[in-house]
Amino acid sequence: MPPHLPAEPAGPTGSVGSAPPAPADSAPAPDPRPGDAGAPSRPGPSPDPVRDPWRSAMRLALAEADAAAAAGDVPVGAVVLSPDGEVLARGHNEREATGDPTAHAEVLALRRAAEATGEWRLTGCTLVVTLEPCVMCAGALVQARVARVVFGAVDEKAGAAGSLWDLVRDRRLNHRPEVIHDVLGEECAQQLTAFFRAR
Ligand SMILES: [Zn+2]
Repeated sequence: MPPHLPAEPAGPTGSVGSAPPAPADSAPAPDPRPGDAGAPSRPGPSPDPVRDPWRSAMRLALAEADAAAAAGDVPVGAVVLSPDGEVLARGHNEREATGDPTAHAEVLALRRAAEATGEWRLTGCTLVVTLEPCVMCAGALVQARVARVVFGAVDEKAGAAGSLWDLVRDRRLNHRPEVIHDVLGEECAQQLTAFFRAR
């Protein structure tokens, strides 16, 4: 039984825009929230309607990534959510564990989601992953027709969802998933940094 998500992503159209603006600085600072008096200097607590709905799913992806690291693989984890926000599948990087160069978290999660639904088209689904997808995974996301890709850390050296390439939003393609970046981005980046530091 997949654990349900406490904060469900607000439906298929819950997120805003395909090019998310910079989070905090445009928002009006005075935010009347009770019991959170000393918070304005910290970036975390200010509400972010675009990213906040995906945080709980990103925590699941982070937990998946931990499983990768435990097996000696670079910690990248992914989950696929149904249009209703239910967890359909999970995956983590298994290149070292399986010796398969295509065993990236996203590919494995997409395959399992397709198995679970019995349908290669993952229409309306969202893939949540701790690191910006590479070209292969970005291609797989487009092939799977997911509605949305949500990622944590940016991969400036190989990212294909806005960094080095923007394959998922290439206007020449018929299907272009929405992209939401920097959901728990710092935590995702720290997990990777810690892994490489410990090697
Ligand atoms: Zn990949």
